[in-house]
Amino acid sequence: MLTISPTTSKITTTHHHHHHLHPHTYRHLTSHRTPPPQHPHPCKPLRLRRPFQISAIDAAQPFDYESKLSKQISKSKTLKIAIVGFGNFGQFLAKTLVRQGHTVLAHSRSDYSAAAANLGVAWYSNADDLCEEHPEVILLCTSILSTDKVLRSLPLQRLKRSTLFVDVLSVKEFAKDLFIQILPLEFDILCTHPMFGPESGKNSWKDLPFVYDKVRIGNDESRVARCEKFLDAFAREGCVMKEMTCAEHDMHAAESQFITHTVGRILEKLNLDSTPINTKGYERLLDLVENTSSDSFELYYGLFMYNKNAMEQLERLDLAFEALKKELFGHLHDVLRKQLFGTRGRSLGSLQRPPALSKLPPNGNGLALPTGSTESEPKSDSATS
Ligand code: NAP
Repeated sequence: MLTISPTTSKITTTHHHHHHLHPHTYRHLTSHRTPPPQHPHPCKPLRLRRPFQISAIDAAQPFDYESKLSKQISKSKTLKIAIVGFGNFGQFLAKTLVRQGHTVLAHSRSDYSAAAANLGVAWYSNADDLCEEHPEVILLCTSILSTDKVLRSLPLQRLKRSTLFVDVLSVKEFAKDLFIQILPLEFDILCTHPMFGPESGKNSWKDLPFVYDKVRIGNDESRVARCEKFLDAFAREGCVMKEMTCAEHDMHAAESQFITHTVGRILEKLNLDSTPINTKGYERLLDLVENTSSDSFELYYGLFMYNKNAMEQLERLDLAFEALKKELFGHLHDVLRKQLFGTRGRSLGSLQRPPALSKLPPNGNGLALPTGSTESEPKSDSATS
């Protein structure tokens, strides 16, 4: 409440002075307000050592500094983000960004005006109109295959000179090269890959990995802050933030994500059904099929086409399957030999030894499949037999 001190005729109030507070101090003061002073004993006369003087505005009037400051603090955490490509993944991200208070705009090839309205997202069927809104961030959620075309068709000249471009493509070197090639130097570039999707992240993003590479962020304080604010959207949901180069990402993703999707899609071709006696392991396989098949084939094809490590992984998978079959058939031959030759088989020496369990050499050492068993065969044979 506003009061005028009789001694100083200065505008004063009953609380501390809040001007020019550091945000941390501000948070501290607002969350741990000092309790109101105890009323003195009613019988004793009120005696003050110093003249009673109050020095800050307490009620949050719309015009006062405190409320303006608090508005600025909460506002500064939010961004104006334009999502380009409002399909499965674009809408999934929009949900959380809107909840966090960001202003979200969207544009896509298809008409998603109804879905956008449902999510509290401003819909722009025209890319010129979207760019003229001057979003701080353009978040590309297009398919891997269409990103080149979509990026080239955006009216970049309508954007602010300083705009942050972010992508979420599941292949990173390709996205980085595309951005560097197409975007003017004034634009900042952040390449990211949330390692989760509408299925795996439907309940929470907590503990899910988020990969990013600050490919080109200007030194300017506001540019640095804008990038951090964007990353914070994922950090504050509990994501495990992993900074790495796009090349490192692609190597790890081919060894993990591409293998997962490939195995899921192989199993999908088997048309697996639930049985009355599902084991836990089988349940997990059914989940894997469901998870991977809910992604578009275009996405999977993009993982293969635009990650140079994917082909090697596909070959390793092939080799591993062949190696496993060899082991099985090797054991089978062993049993047959015993049946055919009985104890005489012992004199066959090394042929009698059960084939050793063979494993592929670890990723990245460029070696062919170890022969493992007694016969040594060239790599090409083991891959095609
Ligand atoms: P997607 O099939 O990879 O991409 C669908 C999006 O691409 C839609 O917005 C679609 O627009 C747009 N698109 C496709 N072809 C187009 C074309 N010729 N011209 C213009 N736009 C075109 O499926 P998604 O799951 O939504 O993935 C989007 C991106 O997120 C991909 O780059 C993917 O790698 C990445 N990502 C996905 C996941 C996931 O779990 N799904 C996780 C991490 C990252 P319209 O719908 O308007 O046609």
